[in-house]
Amino acid sequence: MKASPAGDLKVFISHRDSRCNECGEDLGHRAWITLVDEGRALCLSCADLDHLVFLPAGDTALTRRARKHSGLSAVVLKWSRARKRYERQGLLVEDGALEQAEQECSADAATREARRARAAERHAELDDAYIVRFAARVRELYPHCPRGRDKQIAEHACRKYSGRVGRSAAAKALDETAVRLAVLAHIRHTETVYDALLVRGWARQEARAYVNDRVSIVLRQWAEGTLEKCLVR
Ligand SMILES: [Zn+2]
Repeated sequence: MKASPAGDLKVFISHRDSRCNECGEDLGHRAWITLVDEGRALCLSCADLDHLVFLPAGDTALTRRARKHSGLSAVVLKWSRARKRYERQGLLVEDGALEQAEQECSADAATREARRARAAERHAELDDAYIVRFAARVRELYPHCPRGRDKQIAEHACRKYSGRVGRSAAAKALDETAVRLAVLAHIRHTETVYDALLVRGWARQEARAYVNDRVSIVLRQWAEGTLEKCLVR
């Protein structure tokens, strides 16, 4: 079992052109990447961190609470040429954790205003029509998935495909394989101990292998409504 040194997962804002070592995508300049063994760079999709949202540094109480509520989180670092060291830009956290932290912090008007602005910004990235179509497709292929998950999966897919890749890619994302991959990733994060294993420093491939059976069972349940078998770990 390969454990990383204890501490936070780290995401780096690269200061030169980079390419993902796993999917091969050209990430351009100033890409957000993670580094794995021997300095290989991974895009956030391949690193399974692309469902997290960015909370810029600055609000200490909000940051502390968001991290506390988030099962998986990552520190975002950027190289400062002037100071010749990595500087902390903020935190990647789960959407729900940020919302919960925002609610807890929203006692005063200024905080409420900042929260509204951030929520509006997050929503601006999303294409409502696309979300509706994607969610419908999830529901069609996985009629037994819990209520609300179709929309959650669709919003994530929309964040992922908007901007970064073109419209044709977004259309392709509605095909059965792409929808299946999106649902698989969602199950891995929400219905298994996968994120907890990453937090404990497990290597991604080992963590994936560990939760694989459980993921398959849940996927089948969502597709067919079959009862869970007793072989669930
Ligand atoms: Zn990649």
